[in-house]
Amino acid sequence: MADSSRMEDPTDLSEYRQEVRAWMENNQPPAPAFALPQGMLFVDSDEQFAYLRDWQARVYDAGFVGVEWPAAYGGGGRGPGHQRIVSQEMSRAGVPFLINLVGLAWAGPVILAYGTEAQKKRYIAKILRADEIWCQGFSEPSAGSDLASLQTRAVRDGDQWIVNGHKVWTSLGRFADQMILLARTDPEASKHAGISYFLSPMKTEGVEVAPLTKITGEGGFNQIFFGDARFPGDCLLGQEGQGWEIALATLSFERGASEGAAGGDMGATFDVTAAIDLARTTRRDGGTCIDEPEVRDRLVGFAIDAMALRFSGQRARIPGLVADRPLALPLMSKVAGTEYAQAVADFGCELQGYAGTLNKGDTAAVAEGEWQRAYLNSYAGTIAGGTSEIVRNILGEKVLGLPKTK
Ligand SMILES: Cc1cc2nc3c(=O)[nH]c(=O)nc-3n(C[C@H](O)[C@H](O)[C@H](O)COP(=O)(O)OP(=O)(O)OC[C@H]3O[C@@H](n4cnc5c(N)ncnc54)[C@H](O)[C@@H]3O)c2cc1C
Repeated sequence: MADSSRMEDPTDLSEYRQEVRAWMENNQPPAPAFALPQGMLFVDSDEQFAYLRDWQARVYDAGFVGVEWPAAYGGGGRGPGHQRIVSQEMSRAGVPFLINLVGLAWAGPVILAYGTEAQKKRYIAKILRADEIWCQGFSEPSAGSDLASLQTRAVRDGDQWIVNGHKVWTSLGRFADQMILLARTDPEASKHAGISYFLSPMKTEGVEVAPLTKITGEGGFNQIFFGDARFPGDCLLGQEGQGWEIALATLSFERGASEGAAGGDMGATFDVTAAIDLARTTRRDGGTCIDEPEVRDRLVGFAIDAMALRFSGQRARIPGLVADRPLALPLMSKVAGTEYAQAVADFGCELQGYAGTLNKGDTAAVAEGEWQRAYLNSYAGTIAGGTSEIVRNILGEKVLGLPKTK
């Protein structure tokens, strides 16, 4: 990764912002004839997949994906300030999200940190251009929050690994070419020590994908079954038994506690601006919602929360301010940001009165039911990558040094 301590010239950054803004405004892809998913966790159909994959390739070809990653592997070789500008301008322009999020935000950074030269050359550029889509095979039916109790087994056989087991909740699994896979390589070792980390090709005999449907009716999740799947020896990342350390590094990217992701955003969020617009256009009791003191009060509360989140994000990037507790602000932002998105979506449904109970697909639903879809989808953020309860535990135990829960 580029040296994040390097100072970036403010004039350079400001010119870069203009360049990115102009490109995003002039290159908006045409709206598709079908509904797009609200985030990469909800990609459902082949047509959504093809549209979003093409979009990522275009953004990469324009030089705006992996701006901070080393040029030797296909990145832009610039600083983190340039990277942040791209992500901010993408959100501002309201362009589609980058579909290969697992690759860009988790697999890529750990390959750059732990991979061999050959692995970096093999995988990184294809991640950036969405030429290979990645998924994450961590969770199992009895190993979610308690991830280290995972039971999927990998056994060395000559220069190959034979994998057997069952993964679940695998986002994008149906479309993926590669998986970051955690498997137990030493059942005799303690539960954390016996795990290894693999970069596993999905299109392999013995890897079976079974899609699951979410409460919104959308796909996205999958179960993955490994039955004597054979993976090449060089798909091990790091050392045998080093999997838990690399898994923690991955989770630190996933929870936003480490910088180094290749950019883009997670997808649509229904924020206070959208709620204000809704309050302006929604009528009840002979008036408009925005004129009700209680509604205004709630909107001001959300606006303050949004501002606090933004400032926390900025503070988290000032080394002197976070040296004593580097995990504190990013983890607080994971909990507060995902709960904020849920509260705003809930409020948006509540504002609609009886229509708030109508779902996507109902012709009378306000905004085609996108608020309801956002509310149901908002649970993804508070669970995926560590539930709010687990992240609060980490904050209590690791950041504040409180006694461990039993
Ligand atoms: C939208 C979405 C996408 C996902 N995508 C992926 C993916 O691509 N790849 C992947 O590997 N996984 C994925 N996951 C799985 C996710 O990581 C797990 O759902 C998560 O880690 C929680 O594990 P669990 O579902 O087994 O819940 P459990 O661990 O069974 O927890 C159930 C409840 O008990 C609480 N709880 C458990 N232990 C404690 C404790 N010690 N203290 C306090 N409370 C506790 C939890 O907070 C939760 O409320 C995804 C999940 C979602 C929702």
